[in-house]
Amino acid sequence: MKNSLKKAISVLLCLTMVLTVGIIGVSAEEADYSVKTDCNGECEFYPTIIVPGLGQSNTWLADDEGNLLTDDAGNYITSFPAYVQTGKLIKTLAIPALTSLFTQSDAGLSEAAKQAVWDIFGHQACDENGLPSDRIVTERYYQSTADTPDYGQEEVFGHVPFNLYETTQPLDHMYYFAYSSFGNHLELVDELYSFIQMVKAQTGHDKVNLVPLSQGGTLFSGLIEYYPEVVNDLHKIILVVPALDGSTIIGDIFNDRLSFTDPEYLYNGFLENLGLLDEFTARLIEIALRILPDEVIMSVVDAAVSTLVEDVMTTSTNMWVLCPSDDYPTAREKYLSTPERAELRRQTDIYYQAQLNSKANIQGLVENGVQVFCFVEYDTPLINVGTSWNTENGDFIIQTDSTSMGAYFANCGETLPEDYVQKNTHCDNPDHNHISPDRVVDASAGLLPDTTFYFDEQYHEQTAQNDIILKLALELIARDDVKDVYSSPDFPQFLAGRNIANIKTLIATAEAVDASKLSGADAAELAEALAGAKEVLTRTVSYAGELEEREARLNEILVKIGAVEATAEKDPAMLRKISLWLYDNYGTDGFSELPAGALSGLLKEIF
Ligand SMILES: [Zn+2]
Ligand SMILES: [Zn+2]
Repeated sequence: MKNSLKKAISVLLCLTMVLTVGIIGVSAEEADYSVKTDCNGECEFYPTIIVPGLGQSNTWLADDEGNLLTDDAGNYITSFPAYVQTGKLIKTLAIPALTSLFTQSDAGLSEAAKQAVWDIFGHQACDENGLPSDRIVTERYYQSTADTPDYGQEEVFGHVPFNLYETTQPLDHMYYFAYSSFGNHLELVDELYSFIQMVKAQTGHDKVNLVPLSQGGTLFSGLIEYYPEVVNDLHKIILVVPALDGSTIIGDIFNDRLSFTDPEYLYNGFLENLGLLDEFTARLIEIALRILPDEVIMSVVDAAVSTLVEDVMTTSTNMWVLCPSDDYPTAREKYLSTPERAELRRQTDIYYQAQLNSKANIQGLVENGVQVFCFVEYDTPLINVGTSWNTENGDFIIQTDSTSMGAYFANCGETLPEDYVQKNTHCDNPDHNHISPDRVVDASAGLLPDTTFYFDEQYHEQTAQNDIILKLALELIARDDVKDVYSSPDFPQFLAGRNIANIKTLIATAEAVDASKLSGADAAELAEALAGAKEVLTRTVSYAGELEEREARLNEILVKIGAVEATAEKDPAMLRKISLWLYDNYGTDGFSELPAGALSGLLKEIF
């Protein structure tokens, strides 16, 4: 082939790449290392890299040739956490479900459940080297948020809405390290290290800030263990609810400590306490479960769980990093003992060491002049899928021991004993009071008592809806004024958990109301409730529940004047009565297993 033709073809290929890859960005080898900033590294700001949490990156599903799949509306199909094809699902489940119903036995239903779970989650499984499927394509941003096209900017801010708050931090000094949550851990840490070098080159600065969120904390732990020289690249670390010692939920899942595989709990208690359903729905499902014998239901549950855990979750090293160090050795014996999984085990053992060394490594950073801050959320029990859910304080997703680097907590709903004395494990300043005002937290036992902030009653997955957390993070990113929990009256050590999504909608609704059409009393109440709702948002100092009180008052008057529809929760009393009566009298038996006359007994009981 002539050279000119070769050139033309390669140009064409490049063009096609640019056009088809488009938003997906360029691969690591093609990351641009030339300076992009006007400051050339001479400004007061540090380039800041957000390392997001579980599922906070766009990962798309491709076919075997690497072409991104699209849905009927032409949108890319996300690979996280699941890929549900309704038609396929019905095909798999319909006949076994009907047959099992008619015969009141497991007529292939648990086998079908295995297949269904595989169809939904199987693409997340990694191979025996811990490498994810080529069918999962991560949308990466090898450029600052300023240079990321509008679409990509929207995606980044959709996950971490820094754009909603004022900051002096220039956007060309903000970066987002996107990754697949089910990816290969060691590979991702290598990529993060290269990404940091790229950001230094593109901005001209010799140090960066890192903001690891949740699962991102495990990449940070790996980074400082495998690349100790990275200490010279780091100015400030802002850990936001980092999973530094994993999540007890994964520890429970990987050690057979599931709560709902116990029928006694599944049929009474699990669904009500899940935190995701109202009681009406929960009781309805409980009763519906009895459409099949309990043995059949339980074998379907076991089949689904074992497929998800054995065949999917435990093949991903980036899931293993979420297993707490105390739970790792037993889980490893259970799932990583076969020769086929020896390579996986080699890799997860490497992270296990990083996890054990995490506190010492972070201490090392601090001693070398890196500023390390941490945000912890507490007083929300873990979701109840594992049997350990109510044994320690947490933020619904991660136990506080992991996010706080060892601070001491009373359990949710409890307080430290009257005569409790601050442990001072890591603080030797006698003037410091590290006990929370609600007497739940002793921050002095955590590794960084003077630079760790605590958010009361905050749900982990609603972190992005807490304006205080975002404002404090931006303050730390853009400036060095806040050195510790004593630097600013706006940001004391103990802060409030809250979710501003709903109150902001109500404020907008209230502001659109024509008050001249209201009675004097209603207009006055509306004005006062509106002012109160807006005022609480101007403060970073608040208590857990204060925002919700203001929100409830505003909601009440808006409902009264007809600007907002009253949310009527369905009364669960009747379904609760039925479900509990069945449970108390017949345990977990299905309807077909009940003795004759049971139904009339139930009717008598209820009416
Ligand atoms: Zn600069
Ligand atoms: Zn202190």
